[in-house]
Amino acid sequence: MDYFSYMGIGNQIKIVTNSILDIAYPNDCVICENDLKVNEQHMCLSCLYDLPYIDNSEQTKEKLDKLFWGRAEVERTYTLFDYQKGNMVQDILHLIKYQNKTKLAQFFGGKLAEQVDKKNEIDFILPVPLHPKKLKLRGFNQSSLLAKGLNERLNIPVKEKLIRRIVHSDSQTTVSKYERWDNVKNIFTIPNPSKLKDRHVLLVDDVLTTGATIEACLKQLLQIEGCKVSVATLAARV
Ligand SMILES: [Zn+2]
Repeated sequence: MDYFSYMGIGNQIKIVTNSILDIAYPNDCVICENDLKVNEQHMCLSCLYDLPYIDNSEQTKEKLDKLFWGRAEVERTYTLFDYQKGNMVQDILHLIKYQNKTKLAQFFGGKLAEQVDKKNEIDFILPVPLHPKKLKLRGFNQSSLLAKGLNERLNIPVKEKLIRRIVHSDSQTTVSKYERWDNVKNIFTIPNPSKLKDRHVLLVDDVLTTGATIEACLKQLLQIEGCKVSVATLAARV
């Protein structure tokens, strides 16, 4: 058994254990661990209220839409939280990615859907894929879980296989912006571009900081004739 298969099984066990814990203690807030009330899900209303939501002003919407200016042509960019180092969003992302709070990702995907402009007609939701080895290691793709939550609210189909990640890149937290971009520019491929011709897709990722990963996807998508892209992330540095 190779390392990835071994870690993959380890992670599956962790997910099952966490699911069992969630069944055993479904009524604790994931942040403060206080008992949840009947109308609360995953988080108590007080913690939910304290999260750093993006404000819905026209100014902020414009700032979001400008995040990719000069890099790639994006229709609209949507996010739910303002991402700053040390704020509660980091805790949420950590809970999702490393403590397997998969239902939490879906829950926030639903909240993110409320930001998406319904008039902006979208054909498919495309989660930014993980490399198959990383997927096996983690056991799930957090972007797919967000996409599932978006799908439940927006009723737009999720397509998991239209973009593939072909390079397994290591954690990018310590490299510079330039190196990051160099690292990611050719990491995605689109096996059947005709399926995306003249389509408007919503590209989904967990967090948008330098935008390098999303930009790498955009470069591939925007080569397709008539393909329009909007972006939705759980959090973004605006
Ligand atoms: Zn709480």
